[in-house]
Amino acid sequence: MSIVLITLGGTIAMGGVDAGRPGVVTRLTGADLTAAVPGLADLGVPLDVRDVRAVPSASLTYRQVLDVVDVASAAVADGATGVVVTQGTDTLEESAYLADLVWRHPAPLVFTGAMRNPTLAGPDGPANLLAAVRVAAAPAACDLGVLAVMNDEVHAARWVRKTHSTSTATFASPNAGPVGHVIEGAVRVLARPERREPLPRVDPNRLDATRVALYTVTLDDDGLLLGGITEGHHGLVVAGFGVGHVPADLAPLLGDLAARMPVLLTSRSGAGSVLRRTYGAVGSEADLRRRGLLDGGLLDPYKGRILLRLLLAAGLGGEALDTALARFR
Ligand code: ASP
Repeated sequence: MSIVLITLGGTIAMGGVDAGRPGVVTRLTGADLTAAVPGLADLGVPLDVRDVRAVPSASLTYRQVLDVVDVASAAVADGATGVVVTQGTDTLEESAYLADLVWRHPAPLVFTGAMRNPTLAGPDGPANLLAAVRVAAAPAACDLGVLAVMNDEVHAARWVRKTHSTSTATFASPNAGPVGHVIEGAVRVLARPERREPLPRVDPNRLDATRVALYTVTLDDDGLLLGGITEGHHGLVVAGFGVGHVPADLAPLLGDLAARMPVLLTSRSGAGSVLRRTYGAVGSEADLRRRGLLDGGLLDPYKGRILLRLLLAAGLGGEALDTALARFR
């Protein structure tokens, strides 16, 4: 049994300060991170550490995340039992979801990070890393797709969200709950999400060239920002109110856009699904569907944007796009 640990930076590794400047910066390597975890060596799991990047997670790109998936895939093909990725928590839900869409191995690919940096009292990085390694090494965690492990909870990448800006209990899966827990060091899996056929490997150049905008609707929204959206964009995700509503004045504008590019309707609420046929007013979900918007179902806006970008980069459109979306929403 062996686990590959890929480090990308983030708070978990932010143990340094630059002279004359406030705030922590990334300084710790994978070797530093593992050395700070009590009990890790006692697990008897050999760790192969790869320091790939040292950045705040706000600066990660799709291409870099897909490179990590390639490194992880090659490691598994070479016999690694599982892979752990450490990164900043800010974009962890997006990286893990992107990786999940293309991860084709039964072996666990586990993302983790920290909310309290190593210079603070009670940093959570060491505990999260230990739990993530336990999960990556656990036979029970195989075939669950990509996972996020924080705070001794195991979350499926397809459902996990960062729900709090500072709490160590920030990661939650509002629609489903955690799929497992780490209890006294043992990995207990309580639910096994059905695995979906992974998406084919996308050409990174096509992905870079495929731009999908995300627009959050707000009270008294005149939609002015949507004016130039078709220039340079190939798709749009709308984060609507509640079950997928927008102000009546925005409905024709979105309908016009939907005639020119795929427009995916999601909810800005943080949990729950958009509906399809419950409300009928102008700007309601049924009205927007009639105008050509696509149903985002349970996809939150961030996951919807990742999925739509991958599908458009793969060349899908029209009915094929809607059929593909239906597998994931
Ligand atoms: N800003 C940090 C990052 O995402 C936050 C974190 O690591 O938790 O890199």
